[in-house]
Amino acid sequence: MTPARVPPAVAGRVTANAPLAPLVWFKTGGPAETLFEPADLDDLCAYLAALPGDVPVLPLGLGSNLIVRDGGVPGVTVRLGKAFADVRADGETIVAGAGAPGIAVAAAARDAGLGGLEFLRGIPGTVGGAVRMNAGAYGRDIAGCLVEATVVRRNGTRVTLRAREVGFDYRRSGLPVDAIVVSARIRGMVTDRRAVAHEMDRIAAEREASQPLRQRTGGSTFANPPGDKAWRLIDAAGCRGLRRGGAQVSEKHTNFLINTGDATSADIEGLGEEVRARVKAHSGIDLRWEIVRVGRA
Ligand SMILES: Cc1cc2nc3c(=O)[nH]c(=O)nc-3n(C[C@H](O)[C@H](O)[C@H](O)COP(=O)(O)OP(=O)(O)OC[C@H]3O[C@@H](n4cnc5c(N)ncnc54)[C@H](O)[C@@H]3O)c2cc1C
Repeated sequence: MTPARVPPAVAGRVTANAPLAPLVWFKTGGPAETLFEPADLDDLCAYLAALPGDVPVLPLGLGSNLIVRDGGVPGVTVRLGKAFADVRADGETIVAGAGAPGIAVAAAARDAGLGGLEFLRGIPGTVGGAVRMNAGAYGRDIAGCLVEATVVRRNGTRVTLRAREVGFDYRRSGLPVDAIVVSARIRGMVTDRRAVAHEMDRIAAEREASQPLRQRTGGSTFANPPGDKAWRLIDAAGCRGLRRGGAQVSEKHTNFLINTGDATSADIEGLGEEVRARVKAHSGIDLRWEIVRVGRA
């Protein structure tokens, strides 16, 4: 895309050829052809309205469920910053900007004496990413607590969708790939603040014990198939610790892939495909990628 095809930002920042690896958990992958960090909602809408319709747009959260391929991401990658990170309680709901981390929602709910959102304590992505992915844990997910989400469409118009209009399924949603969630209203349940705090601490400790939280990873690689666990199938197929280049199946949690230091995105994606093939050969089950893979190989 030639720079002339990218409209000037009204107030935000536009960067050509922007490295994305530092912005994602795996710390791998090529640059964004253009990275746009809008100053506010009006800026985002005006920019998208002026952007030629054939330029692809990719929303980026904290990159905690994402492989950015080594050839980089064509078109415009949109990253929501501080202007989209407000979180406040409103009655029995939490209203959060899509750039806010899930942990901030869990903490605001705790402070407001609202339960049911503790699971967000353990999910290291943004509210926008959580809506897109229908993030969940411990039997709860976004589909079960979202009241409505405000979304900016590719043409720059904004629309507020009720939860049932988002098209949720297990660890995915029906949002178009270029629709950008800008805020969400999430419902909690009035409960004892100390009980919420206790549950959040329990979740934090449980995560620490069972997941490679301090490594370069992308969270759960594959969605759990109905009635089974992806980690169990991967383990049974003999993949624990399996390596390809600088990528490895975590010894601690077999549904996590890790960058041991010098992995490329091709190493990570190739290892994931090898795991899928081994699981298919061992158990006959086709694992579905939960990690979103974007960009050019
Ligand atoms: C250690 C670890 C533990 C995890 N545990 C869990 C877990 O228990 N449960 C769980 O469900 N997930 C888990 N994840 C995965 C991940 O945190 C979630 O999927 C999270 O919701 C992704 O949010 P993100 O902001 O990082 O999105 P990204 O990884 O940046 O993007 C993921 C997808 O969301 C889209 N997206 C991002 N922001 C927006 C937006 N504003 N509007 C529209 N689309 C957007 C992207 O285009 C992409 O398609 C874990 C990940 C890690 C690293």
